[in-house]
Amino acid sequence: MFNRTNEAKVLRDPIHEYIHISYQVIWDCLNSREFQRLRRIHQLGGNFQVYHTAEHSRFSHSLGVYEIVRRMCYEVENINNSLNEFEKIQVMCAGLLHDLGHGPFSHMFESITQKSHEDITMELILDEKTEVHQVLKKEHTNLPNLIVSILNHSHPNQMLSQMISSQLDADRMDYLLRDAYETGTSYGKFDLERILRTLRVKDGNLCVKESGMHSIEDYIMARYHMYWQVYLHPDAKSYEILIELFIKRYQKIRNQIKIQSLELLFEPLTSDSFYLLDENRLFYSFQQALFCEDEELKDLANRILNRHLLSFKEDEKLNGHYQYVYIEQQMEQDYLPYHENKDPIWILNKNNECIPISKCSEIVKALLRMETKTKKRIFYN
Ligand code: ZN
Repeated sequence: MFNRTNEAKVLRDPIHEYIHISYQVIWDCLNSREFQRLRRIHQLGGNFQVYHTAEHSRFSHSLGVYEIVRRMCYEVENINNSLNEFEKIQVMCAGLLHDLGHGPFSHMFESITQKSHEDITMELILDEKTEVHQVLKKEHTNLPNLIVSILNHSHPNQMLSQMISSQLDADRMDYLLRDAYETGTSYGKFDLERILRTLRVKDGNLCVKESGMHSIEDYIMARYHMYWQVYLHPDAKSYEILIELFIKRYQKIRNQIKIQSLELLFEPLTSDSFYLLDENRLFYSFQQALFCEDEELKDLANRILNRHLLSFKEDEKLNGHYQYVYIEQQMEQDYLPYHENKDPIWILNKNNECIPISKCSEIVKALLRMETKTKKRIFYN
């Protein structure tokens, strides 16, 4: 038996209307300092410089993923029947905590520390010193390990990992809807209710009834449009590049000039230092750099704070002399909204057989026929 909260907690949310919490362990994870830290990390990195309302945080996205997982567990009859209470708790915790390891401006942070946010997430869950680890362990000694095994796909019940990270998972479903809403674009919308209603379990795998295939096609197309309209927007990228150049410049001159708030970035990563590494710290550092002795660092800080972005072009050559040049190689392959060679999305046909969607959907077939090439973007000024 697992501890329930005294009364059900209900949080308002613009995407799901309400988020329902009735297990104490979920509520305590939410109140841990590692989870609260996510309020200080933008969900969309530099995109708020393009879509001015995209100020939402990893905190709200994580709660949204939890809510979709919770609904899968209790509202999809097949899933409800095939999981026991403990498995439901494991997968709901995994949904809530899956993004715990995001650093400030994720991509910049990963390039500096050479560590993926997935690895940091798992380390925080397993680290006995973190509040989140204590909370999980108090509920069940093996809970931290089981959650990590869901996140790294080694859990004996593969379906739990499919719910959190696959080509049709709660993570993508929440971020597409939420990012579309928060940016004010209409591309990311699809029918979540219909997907939940047609979700089934067959031989321990998630699949979708044939009658739900169109809502899945819509979801895949939503992903396609969001990539090109939002996630890969050159101005958002330009802003993130400025931050990366700023940190790299500081790294180069930090034996001559000290900005104390930035030093933490270059110390060994611990759960205590990670807690303090958030975007507020970086914004404060940009302000401090405005008054430093290094002209380049000052210029970059000024550009970041006042949105003087780098120019960009897609062709091969750059003529002339520029202060900043940043070349980005982009494999379109990485941004395909659906991959044939990964775990497929299964469609359950009328004969009760599971067929990969790439074999039965004309839209997915067409998407997979699309020519993909390597793109090079040059950012300069
Ligand atoms: Zn996520």
